[in-house]
Amino acid sequence: MARFDTIFQTALQHMTDRHTRRVLRPIQQTGAVTVIRDGRELINFSSNDYLGLTHHPALAARATQWLHEAGTGAGASRLVTGTSQQHMAVEARLAAFKGAQSALLLASGWQANASVLTALLRLAGEQDGPPLVFTDRLNHASLHHGCMAAGVRQIRFRHNDLDHLEALLCRHAGQPGMRVIVTESVFSMDGDRTDISRLSAIARHHDAFTYVDEAHATGVLGPQGRGLCAGHDIDLVMGTFSKALGGFGAFVTGSRAMCDWLVNACSGFVFTTAPPPAVLGAMDAALELIPAMDAERARLARNATHLRDVIRDCGLSSGPSTTQIIPILIGDAARALAFASVLEKHGILATAIRPPTVPPNSSRIRLALSAAHTDAMIDQLATAITGAARESA
Ligand code: PMP
Repeated sequence: MARFDTIFQTALQHMTDRHTRRVLRPIQQTGAVTVIRDGRELINFSSNDYLGLTHHPALAARATQWLHEAGTGAGASRLVTGTSQQHMAVEARLAAFKGAQSALLLASGWQANASVLTALLRLAGEQDGPPLVFTDRLNHASLHHGCMAAGVRQIRFRHNDLDHLEALLCRHAGQPGMRVIVTESVFSMDGDRTDISRLSAIARHHDAFTYVDEAHATGVLGPQGRGLCAGHDIDLVMGTFSKALGGFGAFVTGSRAMCDWLVNACSGFVFTTAPPPAVLGAMDAALELIPAMDAERARLARNATHLRDVIRDCGLSSGPSTTQIIPILIGDAARALAFASVLEKHGILATAIRPPTVPPNSSRIRLALSAAHTDAMIDQLATAITGAARESA
C-alpha cells in the first residue's frame, strides 16, 4: 500500500456507503453509435456525437492531412510559439459560423468555462465593486467552478425561469456592481432550451453582460446549426468541439476586444499548450460540413419527438426536454441503475445519471440521440424502454 492510501480508501468507502462511487467501464467504439462493452455490441445512446461526425471520413482526412503538415503537437502555448495558420483558420471559421467578430480556441469546454468565466468575473469585480452574478441553478459544473474560482457569490435563479431571473435583477437594481448573467442555451441533463431572445432583452434592460454555454446546441440547433444564440445580442458564447462537432476542445466567440483581452488575461489560455493540428483539422472539416446538415438536424428532431411520445405512453416522464437530449426521469438512484441494466439487456447503452451530477431524487436515464442512429436502432430503443418500464413498474 502507498503511504497515503488509507485516506483515499476511506474516502472511497464513504462513496460506496452512499452509493455514489463510480468506476470506469471500458468500451470499444466500433462506429459513431455502436460500441462493444463486456464483449457485447450495444447501440450507444449516451454519446454526445449528435451528428455522427466522430466517424466521418472528411474529418479523418483533414485531421490526417494537418497532422502530416504540422506534426502531432503545437509544442508551446499560443503566446509563446504555439500560434499557427491552422489556429487562425479555425478561429476565422468559428467567428463566421457564429456570426461574431472574433473567436478564441480553448483546450476543453470544462477548461473554457472554468477559466474564461473566472477571468471575466475578476475583471467585472474591478469595475464597480463585487459583480452581481446571476446563474441558473442547473448550470454545468464547469460554470460553477468558474464562479467559485473568481470568489463570487452566485445569485441563483430557478432552473430556466426567466421570470425569476428578472425578479432577482429588479431586487438588486439599486446595488452597485456589474451585472453578469451565466446560463446555457440547452441544458445537458434536461434537454430544455433557454428563450435566448427574452434573455437578451432582459439583459439589455438591466445592462447585464450575458455568458451563454452552447455546448449542446452548437451544430444541432439554430439556423444551419449555428446555435440558439445566433442572431441574438449575447456578449459571450461558449461552445465545445466535443459534442456535435465530433472532436475535442472548445471555443468562445464575441467581440474582438473581448477575445484580445482573453488572450492576455485568461489563465486557461495563456498557460496551456495550443490545440494540436490533427484536432484542428478535424474541426475545420466539421465546421465546413455542419451548415449543410439540415437533413440530419431534422431527423434528430423527428426521432426526439417520437421517443418522447414512447416515454409518455409508458407512463414515464421526459421532463421539459425539447431537444435531442431526453431524460427518462426515474427519481431513485437504484431504480435508475436497474432501468439502465434492463436497457442493456436489450442491447442499448444508456447511462443512469445520479446525484451529485443531478439534484437528489432526480436520477434518470439520459438519452442522447444522434443523426447516425438508424430507424431500426430507434425502434430497438423504443422496445427496450417499453420493456424496462414494464419490469420496473
Ligand atoms: N458545458 C456543458 C453544458 C457540458 O455539458 C459540458 C460537457 N459535459 C461542458 C461544458 C464541458 O465540455 P468538454 O466536454 O468539452 O470539456
